[in-house]
Amino acid sequence: MKRSNVYFTVGPSQVFPSYKKHLLNAVEANIPSLSHRSDAFHTIFNDTVSSLREILTIPKDYHVFFLSSATEAMERIVQNCVSKKSYHYIDGAFSRLFQITAQAYGKQAAFMEVRPGLGFTNDYIRVPRGTELACVTQNETSTGVSLPPSFLGELKRRYPKTLVAVDVVSSVPGVKTNITDADCVFFSVQKGFGLPAGLAVLIVSPRAMEKAQYLEKKHEIVGGFHRFSNLSAYAQKGEVPETPNVLSIYLLGKIAEDMKRTGMQIIREQTKEKAQLLYSYFDTNKNYTLFVKDGMFRSNTTLVVEVAGGSEKLVKYLAGKGFIVGRGYKEHKNTHIRIANFPSHTLEDVKSLKTELDKASQYFY
Ligand SMILES: *Cc1c(COP(=O)(O)O)cnc(C)c1O
Repeated sequence: MKRSNVYFTVGPSQVFPSYKKHLLNAVEANIPSLSHRSDAFHTIFNDTVSSLREILTIPKDYHVFFLSSATEAMERIVQNCVSKKSYHYIDGAFSRLFQITAQAYGKQAAFMEVRPGLGFTNDYIRVPRGTELACVTQNETSTGVSLPPSFLGELKRRYPKTLVAVDVVSSVPGVKTNITDADCVFFSVQKGFGLPAGLAVLIVSPRAMEKAQYLEKKHEIVGGFHRFSNLSAYAQKGEVPETPNVLSIYLLGKIAEDMKRTGMQIIREQTKEKAQLLYSYFDTNKNYTLFVKDGMFRSNTTLVVEVAGGSEKLVKYLAGKGFIVGRGYKEHKNTHIRIANFPSHTLEDVKSLKTELDKASQYFY
C-alpha cells in the first residue's frame, strides 16, 4: 500500500502521531456516546483542562473555555471585552479578520497596519487613549510573520490598564506564549495540536472576566450561550453550555498529555531546529525566496516561500512524492508555498521534504 501523505499544510494540518491510537481507544471506550452532562464527561473536561494548564502554563485563576473555532473566539472576545474601542495590530489576513469582526459588532476598531511580510517591533507599541482591548496575532499564518517574543510583555508593561487579546492559533504549542502577558488567548486545534477542526480553546484572565461581567451588568450585549459568565458557570461544573464536541475535547486532552510527557521545552527546541533546517536551505537556494525578509519576523511554525516561475508545478511535484504543502494565501496563491512546522511534523519528515524541494529545484529550473 502507498504510504499516506504527510500534510505540511497550515491548517488543517498533519494529525498528531498518536491521534490514531487515541481515536481508536475513544471508539473502543464508546466516548462518542457519552452524555455531555455525565460524570464521565466531567472527568474528561477536567483532565483536558488540567493538561492544557500544565503544558501552556495557564495560571489557576485564568479560565479555560471550549468554543467551536478561533473565528468564534474573536467574536466572543469582542463582545465580552469591548464596549466601544478596540485596537488592532494588522500584519496579514487573520489579524485583519479580528479587526473586521470588531467592526461588525459596531466597535470603533482602530488599527495599525504594516505591509505583507513585515511585522511589529516593540517600537510600534502604541495604543490610543481609551482603548479597552488591544488585539495581536502571535503568528500571521497568511504571511509567515511572527511577533518578536518580547512584544506582548512590553505591550502589557506600557499599557497595564488595556486588556490584551492574542491569537495563538498557528504558534501554539510549538512557540511559547506568556499567558500572563495577555487577557484573552485563543486557538483552534487543527493547526499546532494536530487534531481535526471543530474545537477551539479560549483562555480568559480574571480582569477580562470582570470586564465581561461589568458590561453584562450595564445590559450591553455580551452574547447568549457563549457569554463569558455563562461559559464560566458551566466550566465550574466541568461542562460546556451546549452539547460540545466531546470526542475532540477527549482527544485534545490525550494529545496534551503526550506533549507533557515529551516535555514542552523539547517540543519547542525541535520546532526551532526544524524551522532552522528549512530556513537555512531556502536562504541558499536561488529558486526559493523567503517572503519574510527580516529574520526577526520569520515564523518558526509557518514558512512562506516565493517560488521562481510559480508554485503550481512545485506543489504538484511534492504531492506526487506524498508531501502536501499549502498554496500561497489569496493573491499569492500561485507564487508562494506555505509550509507548516508543527509538533506533528517529525524531523525525519522535514528532512525528506527538504530533499524533495531540492530535487524539484534542480529538475524544474
Ligand atoms: C486558521 C487561523 C484562524 C482561524 O481559525 P478557525 O479555527 O478556522 O476559526 C485564526 N487565526 C489564525 C492566526 C489562523 O491561522
